[in-house]
Amino acid sequence: MLDLLHTTKTHDETRQGEAVELAPTGKADGRKLYIESYGCQMNFSDSEIVASILIDQGYETTKDYKQADVVFINTCSIRENAEQRVRNRLKEFEAVKAKNPGLVVGVLGCMAERLKSKFLEEEKLVDVVVGPDAYRDLPNLINKVEDGNKAVNVLLSREETYADISPVRLNSNGVSAFISIMRGCDNMCSFCVVPFTRGRERSRDYASIVKEAQDLYNAGYREVTLLGQNVDSYKYTPKVEEGNDPLPTVNFANLLELVAQVSPELRIRFSTSHPKDITDEVLYTMAKYENICKYIHLPVQSGNSRVLELMNRTYDRQWYMGRVDAIKRIMPDCAISTDIITGFCTETEEEHAETLSMMDYVKYDFAYMFAYSERPGTLAAKRYQDDIPEEIKKRRLTEVVNKQQIHSLERITQYVGKVHKVLIEGFSKRSDKDYCGRNDQNTMVVFPVDARFKVGDYVHVLGESCTSATLIGKIID
Ligand code: SF4
Repeated sequence: MLDLLHTTKTHDETRQGEAVELAPTGKADGRKLYIESYGCQMNFSDSEIVASILIDQGYETTKDYKQADVVFINTCSIRENAEQRVRNRLKEFEAVKAKNPGLVVGVLGCMAERLKSKFLEEEKLVDVVVGPDAYRDLPNLINKVEDGNKAVNVLLSREETYADISPVRLNSNGVSAFISIMRGCDNMCSFCVVPFTRGRERSRDYASIVKEAQDLYNAGYREVTLLGQNVDSYKYTPKVEEGNDPLPTVNFANLLELVAQVSPELRIRFSTSHPKDITDEVLYTMAKYENICKYIHLPVQSGNSRVLELMNRTYDRQWYMGRVDAIKRIMPDCAISTDIITGFCTETEEEHAETLSMMDYVKYDFAYMFAYSERPGTLAAKRYQDDIPEEIKKRRLTEVVNKQQIHSLERITQYVGKVHKVLIEGFSKRSDKDYCGRNDQNTMVVFPVDARFKVGDYVHVLGESCTSATLIGKIID
Protein backbone atom coordinates (compact mmCIF):
# COMPACT_ATOMS: atom_id res chain seq x y z
CA MET A 1 0.00 0.00 0.00
CA LEU A 2 1.14 3.41 -0.76
CA ASP A 3 0.27 4.77 2.58
CA LEU A 4 -0.13 8.46 2.86
CA LEU A 5 3.29 9.46 1.71
CA HIS A 6 4.71 6.76 -0.35
CA THR A 7 7.98 8.36 -0.12
CA THR A 8 10.60 5.98 0.91
CA LYS A 9 13.54 4.22 -0.27
CA THR A 10 10.96 1.63 0.06
CA HIS A 11 7.81 3.62 0.07
CA ASP A 12 8.14 6.74 1.98
CA GLU A 13 11.27 8.53 1.14
CA THR A 14 10.31 11.37 -1.12
CA ARG A 15 12.83 12.08 -3.79
CA GLN A 16 12.06 15.38 -5.30
CA GLY A 17 12.38 15.97 -8.97
CA GLU A 18 15.12 13.61 -9.92
CA ALA A 19 16.14 13.51 -13.52
CA VAL A 20 17.43 10.33 -14.98
CA GLU A 21 19.78 9.38 -17.74
CA LEU A 22 19.99 6.04 -19.42
CA ALA A 23 22.71 4.35 -21.27
CA PRO A 24 22.16 4.98 -24.97
CA THR A 25 20.64 1.96 -26.66
CA GLY A 26 22.50 2.42 -29.89
CA LYS A 27 19.33 2.34 -31.99
CA ALA A 28 18.16 5.83 -31.20
CA ASP A 29 16.76 7.88 -33.97
CA GLY A 30 18.16 11.01 -32.43
CA ARG A 31 15.19 11.89 -30.22
CA LYS A 32 16.01 12.57 -26.63
CA LEU A 33 13.81 11.90 -23.62
CA TYR A 34 13.98 13.67 -20.27
CA ILE A 35 11.90 12.39 -17.32
CA GLU A 36 11.65 14.07 -13.96
CA SER A 37 10.03 12.01 -11.22
CA TYR A 38 8.40 13.10 -7.97
CA GLY A 39 7.01 11.26 -5.01
CA CYS A 40 6.98 7.65 -4.07
CA GLN A 41 9.09 4.75 -5.21
CA MET A 42 6.18 3.46 -7.29
CA ASN A 43 6.43 6.61 -9.36
CA PHE A 44 10.16 6.16 -9.88
CA SER A 45 9.49 2.57 -10.82
CA ASP A 46 6.86 3.75 -13.33
CA SER A 47 9.40 6.13 -14.87
CA GLU A 48 11.58 3.07 -15.52
CA ILE A 49 8.66 1.48 -17.38
CA VAL A 50 8.06 4.67 -19.39
CA ALA A 51 11.74 4.83 -20.29
CA SER A 52 11.69 1.20 -21.34
CA ILE A 53 8.66 1.74 -23.61
CA LEU A 54 10.25 4.76 -25.30
CA ILE A 55 13.72 3.27 -25.58
CA ASP A 56 12.04 0.46 -27.50
CA GLN A 57 10.91 3.17 -29.90
CA GLY A 58 14.46 4.38 -30.37
CA TYR A 59 14.71 7.15 -27.80
CA GLU A 60 17.80 7.98 -25.79
CA THR A 61 17.63 9.85 -22.54
CA THR A 62 19.26 12.99 -21.35
CA LYS A 63 19.75 14.61 -17.96
CA ASP A 64 19.42 18.04 -19.50
CA TYR A 65 15.87 19.02 -20.40
CA LYS A 66 17.23 21.78 -22.64
CA GLN A 67 18.64 19.05 -24.91
CA ALA A 68 15.43 17.01 -24.95
CA ASP A 69 12.81 16.47 -27.65
CA VAL A 70 10.34 15.04 -25.15
CA VAL A 71 10.09 16.20 -21.54
CA PHE A 72 7.92 14.42 -18.97
CA ILE A 73 7.13 15.17 -15.37
CA ASN A 74 5.97 12.10 -13.48
CA THR A 75 3.79 13.69 -10.83
CA CYS A 76 2.76 12.85 -7.29
CA SER A 77 -0.33 14.33 -5.73
CA ILE A 78 0.48 13.50 -2.13
CA ARG A 79 2.55 16.45 -1.03
CA GLU A 80 1.05 19.79 -0.28
CA ASN A 81 1.57 22.38 -3.03
CA ALA A 82 2.42 19.58 -5.48
CA GLU A 83 0.31 21.24 -8.15
CA GLN A 84 2.07 24.56 -7.80
CA ARG A 85 5.45 22.89 -7.92
CA VAL A 86 4.58 21.11 -11.15
CA ARG A 87 3.19 24.32 -12.63
CA ASN A 88 6.41 26.19 -11.80
CA ARG A 89 8.45 23.51 -13.45
CA LEU A 90 6.24 23.52 -16.53
CA LYS A 91 6.76 27.27 -16.83
CA GLU A 92 10.50 26.64 -17.01
CA PHE A 93 9.92 24.11 -19.79
CA GLU A 94 7.68 26.66 -21.53
CA ALA A 95 10.67 28.96 -21.88
CA VAL A 96 12.62 26.20 -23.62
CA LYS A 97 9.65 25.41 -25.84
CA ALA A 98 9.53 29.02 -26.95
CA LYS A 99 12.97 28.47 -28.51
CA ASN A 100 12.22 24.91 -29.65
CA PRO A 101 8.55 24.70 -30.72
CA GLY A 102 8.93 21.00 -31.58
CA LEU A 103 9.51 20.11 -27.93
CA VAL A 104 6.82 17.78 -26.56
CA VAL A 105 5.98 18.45 -22.89
CA GLY A 106 3.91 16.00 -20.92
CA VAL A 107 2.56 15.27 -17.47
CA LEU A 108 2.43 11.65 -16.31
CA GLY A 109 1.27 9.87 -13.21
CA CYS A 110 -1.01 10.53 -10.30
CA MET A 111 -1.90 14.13 -11.03
CA ALA A 112 -2.73 13.50 -14.67
CA GLU A 113 -6.47 13.02 -14.25
CA ARG A 114 -6.93 15.98 -11.96
CA LEU A 115 -4.80 18.38 -13.94
CA LYS A 116 -5.59 17.40 -17.48
CA SER A 117 -8.06 20.18 -18.21
CA LYS A 118 -6.10 22.77 -16.26
CA PHE A 119 -2.67 22.21 -17.74
CA LEU A 120 -3.73 21.08 -21.18
CA GLU A 121 -6.71 23.22 -22.06
CA GLU A 122 -6.81 26.22 -19.72
CA GLU A 123 -3.15 27.05 -19.18
CA LYS A 124 -1.82 25.27 -22.28
CA LEU A 125 1.32 24.29 -20.44
CA VAL A 126 1.51 20.74 -21.78
CA ASP A 127 0.91 18.80 -24.98
CA VAL A 128 0.24 15.40 -23.52
CA VAL A 129 -1.28 14.07 -20.29
CA VAL A 130 -0.98 10.38 -19.46
CA GLY A 131 -2.29 8.48 -16.44
CA PRO A 132 -0.41 5.63 -14.72
CA ASP A 133 -2.20 2.86 -16.59
CA ALA A 134 -1.76 4.29 -20.09
CA TYR A 135 2.01 4.31 -20.61
CA ARG A 136 1.85 1.75 -23.42
CA ASP A 137 -0.06 4.38 -25.36
CA LEU A 138 2.79 6.91 -25.09
CA PRO A 139 4.35 6.37 -28.55
CA ASN A 140 0.94 6.84 -30.14
CA LEU A 141 0.18 9.91 -28.02
CA ILE A 142 3.53 11.50 -28.87
CA ASN A 143 2.79 10.91 -32.56
CA LYS A 144 -0.52 12.67 -32.16
CA VAL A 145 1.23 15.67 -30.64
CA GLU A 146 3.76 15.71 -33.43
CA ASP A 147 0.83 15.79 -35.85
CA GLY A 148 -0.28 18.99 -34.18
CA ASN A 149 -2.85 17.66 -31.70
CA LYS A 150 -3.08 17.60 -27.94
CA ALA A 151 -3.15 14.08 -26.52
CA VAL A 152 -4.69 12.63 -23.37
CA ASN A 153 -5.09 9.14 -21.97
CA VAL A 154 -5.93 8.94 -18.29
CA LEU A 155 -8.01 5.77 -18.42
CA LEU A 156 -7.48 3.51 -15.45
CA SER A 157 -7.32 -0.20 -16.08
CA ARG A 158 -8.38 -3.27 -14.14
CA GLU A 159 -5.78 -5.37 -15.94
CA GLU A 160 -2.63 -3.41 -16.70
CA THR A 161 0.42 -4.51 -14.68
CA TYR A 162 3.14 -3.94 -17.32
CA ALA A 163 4.18 -7.51 -16.48
CA ASP A 164 5.97 -8.08 -19.78
CA ILE A 165 7.92 -4.82 -19.73
CA SER A 166 11.42 -5.09 -18.44
CA PRO A 167 12.06 -1.75 -16.72
CA VAL A 168 15.20 0.16 -17.59
CA ARG A 169 17.09 0.74 -14.35
CA LEU A 170 17.43 4.46 -13.86
CA ASN A 171 20.04 6.09 -11.65
CA SER A 172 20.92 2.62 -10.49
CA ASN A 173 23.80 1.72 -8.19
CA GLY A 174 23.81 -1.70 -9.86
CA VAL A 175 23.16 -3.34 -6.50
CA SER A 176 19.58 -2.57 -5.43
CA ALA A 177 16.48 -2.47 -7.61
CA PHE A 178 12.74 -2.16 -7.20
CA ILE A 179 10.28 -4.64 -8.64
CA SER A 180 6.69 -3.56 -8.96
CA ILE A 181 4.46 -6.52 -8.02
CA MET A 182 1.05 -4.92 -8.16
CA ARG A 183 -0.74 -1.69 -9.00
CA GLY A 184 -3.59 0.33 -7.57
CA CYS A 185 -5.32 0.00 -4.24
CA ASP A 186 -8.73 -1.26 -3.14
CA ASN A 187 -8.53 0.26 0.31
CA MET A 188 -10.26 3.54 0.78
CA CYS A 189 -8.30 5.24 3.52
CA SER A 190 -10.18 8.48 3.89
CA PHE A 191 -7.09 10.72 3.72
CA CYS A 192 -5.64 9.10 0.63
CA VAL A 193 -6.02 9.95 -3.01
CA VAL A 194 -4.27 6.85 -4.37
CA PRO A 195 -7.37 4.71 -5.03
CA PHE A 196 -8.65 7.52 -7.27
CA THR A 197 -5.38 8.22 -9.07
CA ARG A 198 -4.04 4.70 -9.48
CA GLY A 199 -7.24 2.71 -9.73
CA ARG A 200 -8.20 -0.77 -8.60
CA GLU A 201 -5.75 -3.22 -7.19
CA ARG A 202 -4.28 -5.81 -9.54
CA SER A 203 -1.43 -8.24 -9.05
CA ARG A 204 1.23 -8.98 -11.60
CA ASP A 205 1.92 -12.51 -12.83
CA TYR A 206 4.24 -14.07 -10.26
CA ALA A 207 6.30 -15.79 -12.95
CA SER A 208 7.27 -12.44 -14.50
CA ILE A 209 8.25 -11.13 -11.04
CA VAL A 210 10.48 -14.13 -10.29
CA LYS A 211 12.04 -13.80 -13.75
CA GLU A 212 12.74 -10.12 -13.19
CA ALA A 213 14.40 -10.96 -9.86
CA GLN A 214 16.46 -13.68 -11.51
CA ASP A 215 17.51 -11.36 -14.36
CA LEU A 216 18.55 -8.71 -11.84
CA TYR A 217 20.56 -11.24 -9.88
CA ASN A 218 22.26 -12.44 -13.06
CA ALA A 219 23.09 -8.82 -13.87
CA GLY A 220 24.87 -8.43 -10.52
CA TYR A 221 22.10 -6.94 -8.37
CA ARG A 222 22.05 -8.18 -4.81
CA GLU A 223 18.90 -6.63 -3.37
CA VAL A 224 15.35 -6.29 -4.66
CA THR A 225 12.46 -4.47 -3.05
CA LEU A 226 9.02 -5.76 -3.98
CA LEU A 227 6.75 -2.77 -4.38
CA GLY A 228 3.02 -2.35 -4.10
CA GLN A 229 0.49 -0.11 -2.41
CA ASN A 230 -0.51 -3.04 -0.23
CA VAL A 231 1.82 -5.96 -0.85
CA ASP A 232 0.10 -8.21 1.68
CA SER A 233 -2.97 -8.43 -0.50
CA TYR A 234 -0.93 -9.65 -3.48
CA LYS A 235 -2.86 -12.50 -5.10
CA TYR A 236 -2.32 -14.01 -8.52
CA THR A 237 -4.25 -16.91 -10.00
CA PRO A 238 -2.49 -18.32 -13.04
CA LYS A 239 -4.64 -18.49 -16.13
CA VAL A 240 -5.16 -21.97 -17.56
CA GLU A 241 -6.51 -23.21 -20.87
CA GLU A 242 -10.14 -24.21 -20.79
CA GLY A 243 -10.56 -27.81 -19.72
CA ASN A 244 -7.32 -27.85 -17.67
CA ASP A 245 -7.28 -28.06 -13.88
CA PRO A 246 -7.02 -24.69 -12.14
CA LEU A 247 -3.61 -23.80 -10.75
CA PRO A 248 -3.23 -22.68 -7.14
CA THR A 249 -3.39 -18.99 -6.34
CA VAL A 250 -0.08 -17.40 -5.32
CA ASN A 251 -0.34 -15.13 -2.28
CA PHE A 252 2.28 -12.73 -0.95
CA ALA A 253 3.89 -15.30 1.36
CA ASN A 254 4.22 -17.69 -1.60
CA LEU A 255 5.67 -14.92 -3.77
CA LEU A 256 8.21 -13.94 -1.10
CA GLU A 257 9.33 -17.54 -0.88
CA LEU A 258 9.68 -17.88 -4.65
CA VAL A 259 11.77 -14.71 -4.90
CA ALA A 260 13.87 -15.69 -1.87
CA GLN A 261 14.70 -18.95 -3.63
CA VAL A 262 16.23 -17.13 -6.62
CA SER A 263 19.50 -17.05 -4.65
CA PRO A 264 20.50 -16.88 -0.99
CA GLU A 265 22.77 -14.03 -2.12
CA LEU A 266 19.81 -11.91 -3.24
CA ARG A 267 18.30 -9.86 -0.43
CA ILE A 268 14.55 -9.30 -0.45
CA ARG A 269 12.76 -6.29 0.97
CA PHE A 270 9.16 -5.22 0.42
CA SER A 271 6.92 -2.24 0.85
CA THR A 272 4.28 -1.49 1.97
CA SER A 273 2.37 -3.69 4.38
CA HIS A 274 -1.14 -3.03 5.60
CA PRO A 275 -1.77 -3.94 9.23
CA LYS A 276 -5.11 -5.53 8.38
CA ASP A 277 -3.56 -7.84 5.79
CA ILE A 278 -0.12 -8.90 7.04
CA THR A 279 -0.47 -12.57 7.94
CA ASP A 280 1.46 -14.91 10.18
CA GLU A 281 2.22 -16.90 7.02
CA VAL A 282 4.16 -13.87 5.69
CA LEU A 283 5.98 -13.50 9.02
CA TYR A 284 6.94 -17.19 9.16
CA THR A 285 8.18 -17.01 5.57
CA MET A 286 10.32 -14.02 6.49
CA ALA A 287 11.70 -15.90 9.48
CA LYS A 288 12.44 -18.98 7.35
CA TYR A 289 14.69 -17.23 4.82
CA GLU A 290 17.86 -15.50 5.92
CA ASN A 291 17.82 -13.39 2.76
CA ILE A 292 14.38 -11.87 3.46
CA CYS A 293 15.29 -8.77 5.43
CA LYS A 294 13.89 -8.45 8.92
CA TYR A 295 12.25 -5.12 8.46
CA ILE A 296 8.57 -4.22 8.09
CA HIS A 297 7.07 -0.85 7.33
CA LEU A 298 3.70 -1.03 9.10
CA PRO A 299 1.87 2.30 8.90
CA VAL A 300 -0.22 2.90 12.01
CA GLN A 301 -1.40 6.45 11.14
CA SER A 302 -3.06 6.85 14.57
CA GLY A 303 -3.00 4.98 17.86
CA ASN A 304 -6.66 5.63 18.57
CA SER A 305 -9.45 3.33 17.38
CA ARG A 306 -12.04 6.06 16.75
CA VAL A 307 -9.61 8.06 14.60
CA LEU A 308 -8.60 4.88 12.77
CA GLU A 309 -12.25 4.29 11.98
CA LEU A 310 -12.61 7.82 10.62
CA MET A 311 -9.51 7.18 8.55
CA ASN A 312 -11.20 4.00 7.31
CA ARG A 313 -8.12 1.97 8.12
CA THR A 314 -10.24 -1.12 8.90
CA TYR A 315 -8.23 -2.12 11.98
CA ASP A 316 -8.28 -0.82 15.52
CA ARG A 317 -5.65 -0.21 18.17
CA GLN A 318 -5.92 -3.74 19.59
CA TRP A 319 -5.58 -5.37 16.19
CA TYR A 320 -2.51 -3.31 15.35
CA MET A 321 -0.89 -4.19 18.68
CA GLY A 322 -1.67 -7.84 18.01
CA ARG A 323 0.16 -7.68 14.69
CA VAL A 324 3.16 -6.02 16.34
CA ASP A 325 3.14 -8.75 19.02
CA ALA A 326 3.14 -11.40 16.28
CA ILE A 327 6.10 -9.76 14.50
CA LYS A 328 8.09 -9.60 17.73
CA ARG A 329 7.18 -13.15 18.66
CA ILE A 330 8.06 -14.67 15.29
CA MET A 331 11.08 -12.42 14.53
CA PRO A 332 12.41 -10.84 17.72
CA ASP A 333 15.11 -9.04 15.73
CA CYS A 334 12.71 -7.47 13.21
CA ALA A 335 12.75 -3.70 12.83
CA ILE A 336 9.42 -1.87 12.43
CA SER A 337 8.83 1.56 10.96
CA THR A 338 5.60 3.47 10.49
CA ASP A 339 3.66 6.47 9.21
CA ILE A 340 1.85 8.78 11.61
CA ILE A 341 -0.60 11.61 10.94
CA THR A 342 -1.25 14.15 13.67
CA GLY A 343 -4.36 16.30 13.93
CA PHE A 344 -6.67 14.27 11.73
CA CYS A 345 -10.25 15.62 11.68
CA THR A 346 -11.79 15.80 15.19
CA GLU A 347 -8.77 14.18 16.90
CA THR A 348 -8.84 15.04 20.62
CA GLU A 349 -5.87 15.43 22.99
CA GLU A 350 -6.69 12.07 24.57
CA GLU A 351 -6.73 10.40 21.16
CA HIS A 352 -3.42 12.02 20.26
CA ALA A 353 -2.02 10.70 23.56
CA GLU A 354 -2.96 7.21 22.37
CA THR A 355 -0.74 7.70 19.32
CA LEU A 356 2.12 8.59 21.67
CA SER A 357 1.42 5.55 23.84
CA MET A 358 1.32 3.34 20.73
CA MET A 359 4.78 4.64 19.88
CA ASP A 360 5.95 3.67 23.37
CA TYR A 361 4.42 0.23 22.89
CA VAL A 362 6.04 -0.51 19.54
CA LYS A 363 9.29 1.50 19.79
CA TYR A 364 9.53 2.12 16.08
CA ASP A 365 12.96 2.16 14.50
CA PHE A 366 11.86 4.91 12.17
CA ALA A 367 8.74 6.91 11.32
CA TYR A 368 7.41 9.22 8.66
CA MET A 369 5.40 11.81 10.52
CA PHE A 370 3.05 14.46 9.15
CA ALA A 371 0.50 16.97 10.30
CA TYR A 372 -2.78 16.19 8.56
CA SER A 373 -3.42 18.20 5.47
CA GLU A 374 -6.54 17.70 3.44
CA ARG A 375 -6.20 16.41 -0.12
CA PRO A 376 -8.80 17.32 -2.72
CA GLY A 377 -10.94 14.42 -3.86
CA THR A 378 -10.40 12.23 -0.80
CA LEU A 379 -13.21 10.78 1.29
CA ALA A 380 -12.07 12.86 4.28
CA ALA A 381 -12.29 16.04 2.21
CA LYS A 382 -15.85 15.15 1.28
CA ARG A 383 -17.04 13.87 4.65
CA TYR A 384 -15.18 15.59 7.47
CA GLN A 385 -14.24 19.06 8.46
CA ASP A 386 -10.50 19.68 8.71
CA ASP A 387 -11.13 21.24 12.12
CA ILE A 388 -7.91 20.95 14.11
CA PRO A 389 -6.13 24.32 14.16
CA GLU A 390 -2.73 24.33 12.45
CA GLU A 391 -0.83 25.21 15.61
CA ILE A 392 -2.34 22.23 17.44
CA LYS A 393 -1.53 19.87 14.56
CA LYS A 394 2.04 21.18 14.54
CA ARG A 395 2.43 20.93 18.32
CA ARG A 396 1.19 17.33 18.25
CA LEU A 397 3.56 16.63 15.39
CA THR A 398 6.47 18.02 17.40
CA GLU A 399 5.56 15.71 20.29
CA VAL A 400 5.48 12.74 17.96
CA VAL A 401 8.77 13.70 16.28
CA ASN A 402 10.51 14.21 19.63
CA LYS A 403 9.37 10.84 20.88
CA GLN A 404 10.46 9.13 17.69
CA GLN A 405 13.93 10.64 17.96
CA ILE A 406 14.31 9.09 21.40
CA HIS A 407 13.08 5.71 20.14
CA SER A 408 15.25 5.77 17.01
CA LEU A 409 18.33 6.43 19.10
CA GLU A 410 17.32 3.77 21.61
CA ARG A 411 16.84 1.19 18.84
CA ILE A 412 20.04 1.97 16.96
CA THR A 413 22.07 2.03 20.17
CA GLN A 414 21.19 -1.66 20.56
CA TYR A 415 23.08 -2.35 17.33
CA VAL A 416 26.34 -0.95 18.73
CA GLY A 417 28.68 -3.74 19.81
CA LYS A 418 26.98 -6.25 17.48
CA VAL A 419 28.07 -7.61 14.11
CA HIS A 420 25.85 -6.86 11.09
CA LYS A 421 25.75 -8.34 7.63
CA VAL A 422 25.82 -5.32 5.34
CA LEU A 423 25.44 -5.12 1.58
CA ILE A 424 27.83 -2.43 0.29
CA GLU A 425 25.65 -0.04 -1.71
CA GLY A 426 28.20 2.64 -2.50
CA PHE A 427 30.38 5.30 -0.97
CA SER A 428 29.16 7.34 1.95
CA LYS A 429 27.70 10.71 1.01
CA ARG A 430 30.23 12.46 3.21
CA SER A 431 33.44 10.76 2.18
CA ASP A 432 34.71 8.40 -0.49
CA LYS A 433 36.94 6.92 2.19
CA ASP A 434 33.81 5.29 3.66
CA TYR A 435 31.38 2.75 2.28
CA CYS A 436 27.70 2.72 3.16
CA GLY A 437 25.08 0.02 3.09
CA ARG A 438 22.21 -1.26 5.17
CA ASN A 439 21.94 -4.05 7.66
CA ASP A 440 19.09 -6.54 7.70
CA GLN A 441 16.96 -4.10 9.71
CA ASN A 442 17.35 -1.36 7.10
CA THR A 443 19.64 0.79 9.26
CA MET A 444 22.23 2.73 7.31
CA VAL A 445 25.73 1.61 8.25
CA VAL A 446 28.90 3.58 7.41
CA PHE A 447 32.37 2.05 7.63
CA PRO A 448 35.85 2.64 6.22
CA VAL A 449 36.56 1.40 2.70
CA ASP A 450 38.51 -1.85 2.68
CA ALA A 451 40.22 -2.58 -0.64
CA ARG A 452 39.35 -6.28 -0.37
CA PHE A 453 35.67 -5.47 -0.86
CA LYS A 454 33.71 -3.66 -3.52
CA VAL A 455 30.22 -2.27 -4.03
CA GLY A 456 27.77 -5.19 -4.21
CA ASP A 457 29.71 -7.38 -1.72
CA TYR A 458 28.34 -8.50 1.60
CA VAL A 459 30.55 -7.72 4.59
CA HIS A 460 30.33 -8.16 8.33
CA VAL A 461 30.52 -4.87 10.15
CA LEU A 462 30.96 -4.37 13.88
CA GLY A 463 28.83 -1.43 15.07
CA GLU A 464 31.06 0.86 17.11
CA SER A 465 29.00 4.05 17.55
CA CYS A 466 25.87 5.67 16.19
CA THR A 467 23.79 8.75 15.59
CA SER A 468 19.99 8.44 15.67
CA ALA A 469 20.00 7.51 11.98
CA THR A 470 23.36 5.91 11.20
CA LEU A 471 25.42 3.10 12.63
CA ILE A 472 29.17 3.63 12.35
CA GLY A 473 31.49 0.67 12.39
CA LYS A 474 34.29 -1.32 10.81
CA ILE A 475 34.55 -4.42 8.65
CA ILE A 476 35.62 -7.45 10.61
CA ASP A 477 35.68 -10.08 7.82
S1 SF4 B 1 -5.88 3.95 0.34
FE1 SF4 B 1 -4.80 3.39 2.21
S2 SF4 B 1 -3.83 1.44 1.73
FE2 SF4 B 1 -4.39 2.37 -0.25
S3 SF4 B 1 -2.60 3.52 -0.90
FE3 SF4 B 1 -3.86 4.95 0.27
S4 SF4 B 1 -3.08 4.84 2.38
FE4 SF4 B 1 -2.28 3.03 1.27
